[in-house]
Amino acid sequence: MELPFAEAWKIKMVEPIKKSTREQREQWLKEAHYNVFMLESEKIYIDCLTDSGTGAMSDRQWAAMMTGDESYAGARSFYELKAAIKDITGFDYVIPTHQGRAAENVMFSAILTKQGMVVPGNAHFDTTKGHIEFRKCTAIDVTIPEAKNTQLEIPFKGEVSLELLEKVLKENQGNIPCMVLTVTNNTVGGQPVSMKNIRETCELCHKYGVRVNIDSARFVENAYFIKMREEGYADKTIREICKEMFSYADSMTMSAKKDGLVNMGGFIATRHEDLYEACKAFCIPFEGFLTYGGMNGRDMAALAVGLRENTEFEMVETRVKQVEYLAKKLDEYGIPYQRPVGGHAIFVDAQKILTKVPKEEFPAQTLTCELYLEAGVRGCEIGYILADRDPVTRENRFGGLDLLRLCICRRTYTNNHMDVIAAALKNVYDRRDSITHGVKITWEAELMRHFTVQLDRVK
Ligand SMILES: *Cc1c(COP(=O)(O)O)cnc(C)c1O
Repeated sequence: MELPFAEAWKIKMVEPIKKSTREQREQWLKEAHYNVFMLESEKIYIDCLTDSGTGAMSDRQWAAMMTGDESYAGARSFYELKAAIKDITGFDYVIPTHQGRAAENVMFSAILTKQGMVVPGNAHFDTTKGHIEFRKCTAIDVTIPEAKNTQLEIPFKGEVSLELLEKVLKENQGNIPCMVLTVTNNTVGGQPVSMKNIRETCELCHKYGVRVNIDSARFVENAYFIKMREEGYADKTIREICKEMFSYADSMTMSAKKDGLVNMGGFIATRHEDLYEACKAFCIPFEGFLTYGGMNGRDMAALAVGLRENTEFEMVETRVKQVEYLAKKLDEYGIPYQRPVGGHAIFVDAQKILTKVPKEEFPAQTLTCELYLEAGVRGCEIGYILADRDPVTRENRFGGLDLLRLCICRRTYTNNHMDVIAAALKNVYDRRDSITHGVKITWEAELMRHFTVQLDRVK
């Protein structure tokens, strides 16, 4: 018989987690004003809030921590990190930063030199967009329109529409400091971009004299999907695929909290000396000296190991297969989610489940609460609350999707935990018709309200 799939690691250290009773969770959620960001992590059984910085490091990474060189200038750990980045991406110049948004802050400070500049991209991540808009510049989304259809199954749903991109490039000549290519495309559900699309996007941008910055938080997962889904890549290693992906681009900004397999960190890397020089000027005041940026020596050492470890096929395969495992369970139970499942999370379609909860009562937030009450599983609303109000009319924005996101942490939970998540969702799904009321806002911040919003049950 064929041997079943199993994880490419074994467990050396464990962290106890606690179950709770439904009565306790009712009380705690009420105290948290029905906002799961306000729950203490001790009150969570399985935490799927985010996969950012929440994964487990390996014994080799922990060992590297002990060898970290904390020298202010010229730390050996920096050169270890730089060598790992060069091996994987081919980029010569590296600036460490304390996380992904810090890399964006340094780079956009250097290149968004005047207001009104335009940065096209395949659904910019929210911090990326934030940094662009903060500088009174415009982020234009050029993702393929198919990405909006949640039930359409195509292999590379995160791609750039070359047609839309070319239109932006033509209309804004001389006013585009770079294009941001996000792999995988987080905003549309962790969907990958094919090598062909990466190459053609970069070629098109270069034709117009525009550089391409790869927002690389999940570049390894993207390489995995290329290997599994794109013709001509089945026999290539993940490293070869990563090298080729970056070979077409000019630079990268990285949140190492994702595919770097560390809890905190990030960096900028580029092949261009002029860009490096421009970024240097902002690294020093915002982050720190050039050979540590925003990071400890030990954290750079652990990241160097993490990058090498995660670009081994078996490691990223284990990760993506666990997300697929949970998706299969949901298929079995008929629970609708954004298809096909992406690399790091499942986005459950709350509108399709809680059909009796009016949109004014926030179905996805209601589902997030119900899942927590059911089993102590914490997901995150990516829906109407996150969408904030229209800045002019101050009306809620109900135009987009209303989803419950379940992120899967790297190397953290077993498939038994996935079974619990799926069963808990099924129980909520089975009683969906009895859930007729949602939540109402009692207090909210003007911007980015979802982190701190206070809610109450409608009934
Ligand atoms: C997480 C993320 C960022 C921001 O990184 P932080 O480390 O959270 O600051 C930027 N882009 C993408 C695609 C991300 O997933």
